[in-house]
Amino acid sequence: MPDAAIEAERLLAMLAAAGASGTWDWDIVADRLRVDQRFAELYGLDPAAGLSDLPTARFFAAVHPDDRPRMRIAVAAILAGAELFSKEFRIVTPAGTTLWMHARGQSHLDPHDEPVRFTGLLVDVTERKRAEERLRIAQSAGGVGSFEYSDGFATATVSEEFCRLLGLHPAQALPVRTINGVLSDGDVPLIPDPNRGPPPETLDHVFRVRRADDGGERWIARRGEILREGSGYRLVGVIYDVTLAKEQEARLRELNETLEMRVASVIAERQEAEDALRQAQKMEAVGQLTGGIAHDFNNLLTIIIGNIDTVLRRFDPATDPRARRALENALKGADRAASLTQRLLAFSRRQPLDPKRIEIDRLLSGMSDLLTRSIPEAIAIQIAPAADLWSIEADPHQLENVILNLAVNARDAMPDGGSLTIAARNVTVGTGGEPVAGVPDGAYVMIQVTDTGIGMTAETITKVFDPFFTTKEVGKGTGLGLSMVYGFVKQSGGHIDIDSTPGRGTCVSIFLQRQFADASERHEDIEAPTAQPGKLSETILVVEDDDDVRAYTVGILRELGYRVVEAHDGAAALRLLERQETPISLLLTDVVMPQMSGQDLAVRVRALQGDIRVLYASGYTREAIMRDGRLEPGVDLISKPFTYHTLAAKVRDLLDRVQ
Ligand code: ADP
Ligand code: MG
Repeated sequence: MPDAAIEAERLLAMLAAAGASGTWDWDIVADRLRVDQRFAELYGLDPAAGLSDLPTARFFAAVHPDDRPRMRIAVAAILAGAELFSKEFRIVTPAGTTLWMHARGQSHLDPHDEPVRFTGLLVDVTERKRAEERLRIAQSAGGVGSFEYSDGFATATVSEEFCRLLGLHPAQALPVRTINGVLSDGDVPLIPDPNRGPPPETLDHVFRVRRADDGGERWIARRGEILREGSGYRLVGVIYDVTLAKEQEARLRELNETLEMRVASVIAERQEAEDALRQAQKMEAVGQLTGGIAHDFNNLLTIIIGNIDTVLRRFDPATDPRARRALENALKGADRAASLTQRLLAFSRRQPLDPKRIEIDRLLSGMSDLLTRSIPEAIAIQIAPAADLWSIEADPHQLENVILNLAVNARDAMPDGGSLTIAARNVTVGTGGEPVAGVPDGAYVMIQVTDTGIGMTAETITKVFDPFFTTKEVGKGTGLGLSMVYGFVKQSGGHIDIDSTPGRGTCVSIFLQRQFADASERHEDIEAPTAQPGKLSETILVVEDDDDVRAYTVGILRELGYRVVEAHDGAAALRLLERQETPISLLLTDVVMPQMSGQDLAVRVRALQGDIRVLYASGYTREAIMRDGRLEPGVDLISKPFTYHTLAAKVRDLLDRVQ
């Protein structure tokens, strides 16, 4: 055996003893390969065919096809003079298993530095490779990236997942500066700065990170251990994303912090709703009560006023001027009582209203004279309706009353002068418009009476609509002004809102629903009542259960020249109508009567005689008299107590109306 061969044999034996899974000896000059028994087994070579003198191509025979090009290049480098060889690659054994090998080799040079031999050994690293793979999968599946850093170095060893979590390019080692570059200013470094001081106390920390790739903000937690080694240290740890938990924690904290506030606001809301309900119930109850009393009072006043009126008209002033004055004073007192009753009725929403289409700007400018007369000069009055106001429908006289009441309140609130503004404009509440508390969505004309007076406290505002609530001295205020305003607005299907600041002034807003044009509308038409006589050819049927009121009414009508028949209730009226030969021109009936109401009677009378006019006399009407909020043709109403003149005018007007 030549020397070289013996030496090669010894070398292989030595390598095998050192733990190699196989060894090789590549004779570059002869272009032959020699391997050991284990190499042959791994490579599936037939040992019987000999282990030396193999073609060098065998070296690549078992290499996994994917790794083969890499291996060829590396071997080519050795043949071209490179000295060291170290490669990891896969082989496929004859049994079909894939194993990872680490091949480490070296070239041997001749005296002319030409490579002559290439020897080396294979170590099976399959187990390590699998462990690495498991670790990689664990990291990516668990979203955990690992790092390792040795004190003093400018780079840290990192895993693929570590890079991914921070949005950095995958690398096995990263400069410490690059890693810390993703942190927000002022935070502790993720990896300690190589030039600065002692190791951190702990690796437990949560960082706010701006990802290097997409700039996304994330929360990253770091955990791990600090291993001391001599005078230095090593950090081994992991990072993982805790953004979701952080966000939930923040949300929870916010929820907790605002909980108290939200509970308080819900309670306040409920309290408000309860207060509003209680207020509404109170207004309703007081309304029922005042309405009932006022109704009875009206009947009494009708009798008192009517009779004084009758006496006065027959009175010869020459006979007893003192008695006449006394009667006139009695009438004045009764008139004042009637106007108070009227306000109570207004509050209880039972005053007979005669709604008509109104152009607010005309109504307001028509009031300017009256206002200037009632308001002292120290108060500047401004009447400012916007252009193109929508039409509304309301009782014009009552609406004037409302505005006058508000203006008088404003006056009383400005004893030292100030300014009073009466404005009107169109507003859309809700969809597409401004929301207003307590006002349902819809289109309105808003009338605002604003003063710069003493204002009211919130406490006062809650009471101002109560009948008889006044802060004015005895004899100055009745406490019925705003009650009347409130009742009127509600009865007219509107809304009212008061905004006031003590010492600054008050603004009362009234919302009245927009009415759309309707050609058949009657327009507002105010006329002074004059006593217009009747004809004997006109027969009026008077139905009234109160004998005194009926007597008074019949008296006036006869005096006016009408033919009058009377009945004390509906049934009697119908009987009378059946016996009647001449047709009846007009039915004048009370509304509230036992058994049959005025409306029921009117329906039955009209069934018998279609063209009959109907005049309701009432202390109050609910919407019952109206159909869809307005009166039928040939129907009207007169409010009790009425005077000779008003009754004369109403009856004449109704009879003369073309149907
Ligand atoms: P009266 O005017 O007879 O007192 P109201 O019902 O008109 O009755 O008003 C009730 C109370 O509301 C007044 O006494 C006053 O305290 C308060 N008030 C009404 N309007 C105003 C206003 N413009 N400025 C200040 N307070 C007002
Ligand atoms: Mg008032």
